[in-house]
Amino acid sequence: MNQSTFASRVLEWYQLHGRKTLPWQQDKTPYRVWVSEIMLQQTQVATVIPYYQRFMARFPDVLALADAPLDEVLHHWTGLGYYARARNLHKAAQQIRDHYHGLFPELIDEVMALPGIGRSTAGAVLSLALDQPHAILDGNVKRVLTRWLALPGWPGQKQVENQLWEIATRLTPRVGVAQYNQAMMDIGATICTRSKPACTRCPVHADCQGGLQGEPTAYPHSKPKKAIPARTGIMLIIRHGDEILLEQRPPQGIWGGLYCFPQVASVSEVEGALAALGVSASDCRELSGFRHTFSHFHLDITPLLIGLNQPPVPQCMAADNRLWYNLRHPAEVGLAAATARLLAYPDLQPKR
Ligand code: SF4
Repeated sequence: MNQSTFASRVLEWYQLHGRKTLPWQQDKTPYRVWVSEIMLQQTQVATVIPYYQRFMARFPDVLALADAPLDEVLHHWTGLGYYARARNLHKAAQQIRDHYHGLFPELIDEVMALPGIGRSTAGAVLSLALDQPHAILDGNVKRVLTRWLALPGWPGQKQVENQLWEIATRLTPRVGVAQYNQAMMDIGATICTRSKPACTRCPVHADCQGGLQGEPTAYPHSKPKKAIPARTGIMLIIRHGDEILLEQRPPQGIWGGLYCFPQVASVSEVEGALAALGVSASDCRELSGFRHTFSHFHLDITPLLIGLNQPPVPQCMAADNRLWYNLRHPAEVGLAAATARLLAYPDLQPKR
């Protein structure tokens, strides 16, 4: 990877292919660039343009925005969505009016202290409007850099993000920073796209590690799935002839309102559970278990098939949430997924 020529390749590309006629690239001021950056945060350029033009016609500068009623600002935002952006824009304009005499601050720390402006947006405003040498790291730039470097890890992770900021800062040139940052955004939006990067048209494809590996879209890595805890559960499949005892779960909680096998957490609880149900086992056999995954834990299920040599005593049905589920004439009740899966086992088919 040739880091020392990265910026010059990007700048060269910008001269030939970069976007230069966007409305916020004309009469550039920090205010005009700021509004465009906020509008572009969740929205594509083509959608933003007419909104931007109407917004600028009504709020041509910081003071016009700060003095306008919030309702009117929101009205001009209608259709763009994510209204917190408009509220923050209005609040920030009032802070600029009140603390900076209506002049957009030019120190990055001051800009970052305004509502709704993070490090990348602050860097974009000051570099694009004033050519200050700040790096940017929006979603487009993250995608280009993680692919070019084949950088492992999820960029939302602090450590990966810090690494990206460090690289982005190192690659950003001190001269021509406005064009460079614009080019990086353009490459991310138009060439190094999420699902179909046009690598042959990319100025850095010669040493793009993601491209050389043959699978650039593997980067950036996605958010790691949260490790969720595993619990164990023993399902008591109590069978008498063609009937199997099911219990309806309470309406709240796991499998709420659905019919399940009586369940205990460990082998030591089996005997007590059977006694409480008023059944005595003639035989007991373990069937093959499986893992059922809920959103917040895995349940490793061990099914125990328990045969009864005597009909269950009436005590067993004293609770009205119990049902002898007939395998030949199944009741139309809601079954938990794990229950349905177990009921399909060969050992649980009706006897001939
Ligand atoms: S070569 Fe392809 S994957 Fe690599 S940065 Fe360019 S467009 Fe993205």
